[in-house]
Amino acid sequence: MLAENDFDISKFTSFKIGGKVKKIYFPETVDEFIEVLNSQPDAVVVGNLSNVLVSSKGYDGALICTKRMDEIKFDGYTVTASAGVRGTKLSKQAAAKSLSGLEFMIAFPGSVGGEVYMNAGAHGQCIADVLKSAKIYSYENGMIELSNKDMEFGYRTSICQKKPYIVLDATFELVPDNSENIQERMNKNLSFRQDKQPSLTLPNCGSVFKNPKNDSAGRLLESIGAKDFRVGGARVFENHANFIINENSATSLDVLTLMDKMSSAVENKFGIKLVPEVRYLGGKDEEEVKLCKKLQIELIKNQK
Ligand SMILES: Cc1cc2nc3c(=O)[nH]c(=O)nc-3n(C[C@H](O)[C@H](O)[C@H](O)COP(=O)(O)OP(=O)(O)OC[C@H]3O[C@@H](n4cnc5c(N)ncnc54)[C@H](O)[C@@H]3O)c2cc1C
Repeated sequence: MLAENDFDISKFTSFKIGGKVKKIYFPETVDEFIEVLNSQPDAVVVGNLSNVLVSSKGYDGALICTKRMDEIKFDGYTVTASAGVRGTKLSKQAAAKSLSGLEFMIAFPGSVGGEVYMNAGAHGQCIADVLKSAKIYSYENGMIELSNKDMEFGYRTSICQKKPYIVLDATFELVPDNSENIQERMNKNLSFRQDKQPSLTLPNCGSVFKNPKNDSAGRLLESIGAKDFRVGGARVFENHANFIINENSATSLDVLTLMDKMSSAVENKFGIKLVPEVRYLGGKDEEEVKLCKKLQIELIKNQK
């Protein structure tokens, strides 16, 4: 299995931010994945790093990255994808087989494992709407299969955020449809994204904050003028105030300081505390850890 020491993680994060990671493993099969989970019980599992701000000071531990676990198997109207399969690739392959249900995943930069973990969603749909079951590695019980109901999905959350569960693969229940209809829905979703969201040529991590109940973080941020906010090399995206762009070699501290500015301004005007969607991996820099605590940003740690 490929493993590297002192790995520059910035080339893998969608934000293009992050220092050196002490050790990183790249399993290619479920067997290799389980082997490394057992032999490196303190390692943290990541997918495509499209929802993680990694500290520019790096991470002093081990990561297991699922990028190389890339298997997709169709069986009738269901499809099973390994943890590392890119959402957008899965969406395109289902469309090519005239199977509908994954059109909302077009242009998703994350991996299936990260998307199940986060219950990722867009265009009024989310993983919970199409997932049939998931194969999970539990540190207590080994490999188990969980049904959709067992996954306890909620808005950008799943049971994997509450229990030490690692996603090995996921099976989705699809429905047959005319391929032109599927393509039309995908095109509509794509053009919505192109209008409203930055592409990955402007490094970013997707929505920074979750939407508060019955409101939108983007609307609140826009109304306090966040589109003009910038700190160091990080700035708010001009077309949608809930995105931060790494414009000019931004550091993780630039991003956290900008998030603090955005969150404080919304809280001062509306009395609403925005909850971050992006997660943080690091911990060596005291100022960053303090800001994470203030922002209530999830610190990624070993899932065990
Ligand atoms: C341009 C852009 C657009 C985006 N659009 C959307 C969108 O429309 N909707 C949306 O919901 N999100 C969106 N995102 C955010 C992001 O893609 C999702 O949160 C996605 O689910 C993260 O997947 P990932 O593989 O990148 O996970 P990572 O960022 O690598 O990890 C996220 C979390 O999942 C955990 N994790 C990853 N893999 C596993 C696994 N196999 N088992 C257990 N835990 C795991 C990690 O420990 C971490 O806590 C967007 C991001 C970008 C950059």
